[in-house]
Amino acid sequence: MGNRHQTIGIFGGTFDPIHFGHLRAILEVTEQLHLNETRLIPCKNPPHRIPPLATGEHRLNMLKIAIKHSPLSIDEQEMQRTGPSYSVDTLRKLKKEHPNDSLCMIIGVDAFLGLPSWHKWEELIQLANIVVMYRAGWDISETGTINTLLKKHVLNPQENIADFKCGKILQHKITSLNISASTIRTLIQEGHSPQFLLPDEVWEYIQEHGLYGYTKSHSRTQSTEIL
Ligand code: ATP
Repeated sequence: MGNRHQTIGIFGGTFDPIHFGHLRAILEVTEQLHLNETRLIPCKNPPHRIPPLATGEHRLNMLKIAIKHSPLSIDEQEMQRTGPSYSVDTLRKLKKEHPNDSLCMIIGVDAFLGLPSWHKWEELIQLANIVVMYRAGWDISETGTINTLLKKHVLNPQENIADFKCGKILQHKITSLNISASTIRTLIQEGHSPQFLLPDEVWEYIQEHGLYGYTKSHSRTQSTEIL
């Protein structure tokens, strides 16, 4: 008989820069849901937010460095497209390439709450399952549209998400690491170190390329002041 279908995790973001909040969360989901593979998809032109500070090339290079020794992989399709990077286009392409596989779009609860503002958002659940990474402090039960969507598509406890190609929503609790890329950018901009919030090699890359306003003289001035 044919091959058993695969369960593929898809994790999109601007990754400006990638940090341990993303990495730890996505590794836990990959292991705990027994995903066969998980692809990180860096977004080229985010439709909902101000453009990323670092170029697509730098963000992609940082991702490559960060996932080097992990079971995660990178899908560069959004980097290669022009125009706004819509998730619906990404999922349509993946669906075409993997018609028999279970696709699981993994998103943080903050992103999930904003789903109704995404381009053609109602089509997303027809193309993939959605795994919502749950973090302390977020409550999705109150909100109208999202609540309706959840009720309609929630995965029952006796069901396994891998058995569904699309159409199911699972809330999955992860270790909560309160790290955001914006905090890291602000730290660097203000001359502080973001060390231990992201992989050392990514921090080295940022320094080497002077990203997020990092300058050598800035940090030297500061250490002289301390001395
Ligand atoms: P920014 O601070 O610039 O908004 P971010 O750190 O939230 O960036 P994004 O690239 O915008 O990172 O987020 C990509 C995905 O990662 C989203 O689904 C978001 O919910 C999730 N995410 C971001 N930070 C964390 C974290 N600390 N733990 C778990 N998930 C996270």
